[in-house]
Amino acid sequence: VIQGEKFHFQTEVSRLMNIVINSLYKTPEIFLRELISNGSDALDKIRFQALTNASALQTNPNLNVTIAVHKDKRIITITDTGIGMTKEDLQKNLGTIAKSGTSEFLETMSGDKADMDLIGKFGVGFYSVFLVADKVRVTSKNNNDDQYIWESTAVDDFTIAKDPAGNTLGRGTQIAIHLKPDQDQYLDDTRIQQLVTKYSEFINFPIYIRRTKTKTVEAEPVVAKETDKTTDDSEEAQVEDAKEEEPKEKAAPVTITYEEDDLMNTNKPIWIRDPKSVSETEYDEFYSVLSREPGAKSMAYSHFKAEGDNEFKAIMYIPSKAPKDLYQRVDHAHSNVKLYVKRVFITDDSTDFLPRWLGFLKVVVDAEDAPLNVSRETVQSNKSIKSISKHLVKKLFDLLKSMSQDETKYADFIKEYGTALKLGALEDKSNVKKISRLLRYRSSNSENLTSLESYVSRMKKGQKDIFYFTGANVDEIKQSPFVESLLARGYEVLYMDDPVDEIVLSHLGGFENKSFQNVGKSDLKLGDEDHSAETEKELEQKFLPLLDWMHATLLNDVEKVRVSKRLTTSPAALVANDFGWTANMERIMEGQAK
Ligand code: ADP
Ligand code: MG
Repeated sequence: VIQGEKFHFQTEVSRLMNIVINSLYKTPEIFLRELISNGSDALDKIRFQALTNASALQTNPNLNVTIAVHKDKRIITITDTGIGMTKEDLQKNLGTIAKSGTSEFLETMSGDKADMDLIGKFGVGFYSVFLVADKVRVTSKNNNDDQYIWESTAVDDFTIAKDPAGNTLGRGTQIAIHLKPDQDQYLDDTRIQQLVTKYSEFINFPIYIRRTKTKTVEAEPVVAKETDKTTDDSEEAQVEDAKEEEPKEKAAPVTITYEEDDLMNTNKPIWIRDPKSVSETEYDEFYSVLSREPGAKSMAYSHFKAEGDNEFKAIMYIPSKAPKDLYQRVDHAHSNVKLYVKRVFITDDSTDFLPRWLGFLKVVVDAEDAPLNVSRETVQSNKSIKSISKHLVKKLFDLLKSMSQDETKYADFIKEYGTALKLGALEDKSNVKKISRLLRYRSSNSENLTSLESYVSRMKKGQKDIFYFTGANVDEIKQSPFVESLLARGYEVLYMDDPVDEIVLSHLGGFENKSFQNVGKSDLKLGDEDHSAETEKELEQKFLPLLDWMHATLLNDVEKVRVSKRLTTSPAALVANDFGWTANMERIMEGQAK
């Protein structure tokens, strides 16, 4: 026990500690995230100092974090070679709350559950260590002071003493966490490794776990008689000699125990770099890390930086294949956005970053200084999340727009994600216009897909509407007498062979002031009607007996029988009435009734 100078925690600190413990007791594991991120911050600081003063690193040229588990003593140590703290720093940083705003914030806390969730806005920070610790000892060495020890059991006060062992750290900070009796899980270094991977795999400095290992080696045999010694006295030679000459004296293998630091974070946070400096291979490799699918490829990606109030960097990938369960997972919360704050993982549990139809994207977002909470509820109501979300969606549209410059390639996107786009048209009101430009359809124009925009550019003089017809497949649509007659007159018809197409069109409402016309509806106006010939009325008079006979014969099946000028080669056609369902809609409704 080291006798140190006694200090009291600032009242706010005690309150903060209580709040942290009460609101985060369900996720004590975040202590490791917080301490590693503090280590990483401290390493950033000394590296920054070294830019103008290279000698700052002389006290220890290595920059890293090392975690060690001492099972027998029930202690975990986390050691960084960062900037370290002077005696004064220890007293101030680990005894008071320096951040402005925190005190006022604490004043407003009534102590109920919703308030508790707000706590993370101010960074959970160092005090989260008391989620798992009943005693903490911080040993720290800053270049401007001797090595000091800060120690506390979190009850009211802490002590600071000069380290009697001297300046053993060289430079940096070691946090020794004495675990509470019920926190044994953190004595298992595979559990620690799992947490480092979860929260800190992209920390920019090496993070090691110090492991005690054993290995079995062939013991050196008892050295043979002096007289046998040859002139070659290297180890191997001695062993060789001994083996050859006295095989019976071969000693049993011995087990040696040694310590080794295993590097935990080999993945690099490529998103923090300038996109120009990142190679295609690096993007590919990172994608397979992010998707946790070795060798997986992406179809396209966008790497960007957002500035302003909510500074963040992000990479967004479109996987080359749509996930199999993309449309099944509509009902349960699912997130494909990994949120980091300064390289430290915060959550991938928030479904608020992207609208549902963008569930296929794989995104990493790293916010510079977002007031983000660890708790899901708060993340969801967070303003900065909304702004990040808006930005992500905008970037996605930019990406799709540039992909659609090459229609052949874009067809691959439509093949995988056409249905997602349509879902977007149905659900995402604010983006429906943009989505309408990205949709592609089969058409009578060519075998290739067409956009609505290029359909409009090919419209005939006088044509007011966009013509389409629905059916179970393109062949069926092509054979329709309605389609046939329009084609004969030189109109282009869009082939809607997906059951949701018609519903999507009704959500779009129209495109560039043109409305959508199902060519199977009875009131179709082409815009080039032949006014010189007999009117439909006159024709109806002429054919009245035939119409009457047909109506009487088909009484149970049709509502009306009319003369039409729309048909060319087919003698008759069945049409839906203007307010009725088209044959296709009937098929959908029947399907749903089953
Ligand atoms: P934050 O990291 O948001 O500032 P923390 O509660 O995590 O808040 O840490 C409080 C302060 O203690 C830090 O700002 C830093 O000055 C100091 N500190 C904590 N850990 C270390 C460390 N490993 N090395 C140097 N300073 C540290
Ligand atoms: Mg911190």
